[in-house]
Amino acid sequence: LFISIEGLDGSGKSTQIQYMKRFMEDKGFEVLLTREPGGTVIGEKIRDIILDKQHQEMADTTEVLLYAASRAQHVQQFILPALQEGKVVLCDRFVDSSIAYQGGGRKLGCSLVKEINRFATQGLKPDLTIFFDISPVTSLQRISSKEIDRLEQEKIDFHEAVYNAYKELCREEPHRIKVVKADRDIEAISRDIQGLLIKLIKE
Ligand code: C5P
Repeated sequence: LFISIEGLDGSGKSTQIQYMKRFMEDKGFEVLLTREPGGTVIGEKIRDIILDKQHQEMADTTEVLLYAASRAQHVQQFILPALQEGKVVLCDRFVDSSIAYQGGGRKLGCSLVKEINRFATQGLKPDLTIFFDISPVTSLQRISSKEIDRLEQEKIDFHEAVYNAYKELCREEPHRIKVVKADRDIEAISRDIQGLLIKLIKE
């Protein structure tokens, strides 16, 4: 089973992913918790180039291709072998992040980003994607108390474009992408997610 977790920064993904891992392990699954570039040497090098853009000019087209290249390596070297071994793979962000951030946020267009990523991932799609839904304003407020710098860079309109692209994806693929309201207490969110996981296991 391949599960991805998506959402704006400050949506509480990282806390819940740890709970999800424990929950699936308790159900007897071997779980691989990962995030791009997933520790692959090539992926890490690509990631360094992407992060370096803070200090450089990087074309949006370069950014989308680098994310896709890093993902291609992660899929080939890490995710596909784990799935073949029967593990549950829990991935913190996957293709939907590129559709939302590069397609929506950077306005490259969602269909183009989808196409590039279909190639990069060999067509691999998550069995379940959980979208942590918080408003762009709440997201910015949560980040700002932690990371003022990033708040300066990613302005509200960028965040809104990312959010809108995510919501569009949720409408397009309601079977795969499940929306969890993330502006609630940790236990309530966790209960909802466990319900989704139980349903997935039974399918
Ligand atoms: O994974 P995390 O929540 O730490 O995301 C960090 C940031 O990486 C995001 O807020 C976003 O700015 C950026 N990102 C991106 N495009 C992706 C994935 C992440 O711009 N495809």
